[in-house]
Amino acid sequence: MSRNLAEAPDGGKGVVCLLCGSHLKDGGRCNVRRHMKDMHLYYNLRYRCPACERVYKSQNSLRCHVSMYHKEMRLKLDVRKCVV
Ligand SMILES: [Zn+2]
Ligand SMILES: [Zn+2]
Repeated sequence: MSRNLAEAPDGGKGVVCLLCGSHLKDGGRCNVRRHMKDMHLYYNLRYRCPACERVYKSQNSLRCHVSMYHKEMRLKLDVRKCVV
C-alpha cells in the first residue's frame, strides 16, 4: 500500500487516492499505477493556477482555490494542464 493511498471506506478492494480523492474501485497495482500516471504523472507534482500563478501541491487544493477565487473558470479547468 503506497503512502498516497488509503483503503476505501466501503471495505472493498478499492482504494482512495490521497492526491486527488478519487475512489479507485480496483486497487490493484496496475490500476493504481495507471491512475497515478494518467492523473498525477509523478508523485510530487505542483499545480499552478492558470489565472493567478499560485502553486498548489495537489489537484484538490488547486480546485478548491479555483472554485473560491475563479468561479467562472472552474468548469473548464483541466488540472492536468496546470502541472508545473
Ligand atoms: Zn489520484
Ligand atoms: Zn488563482
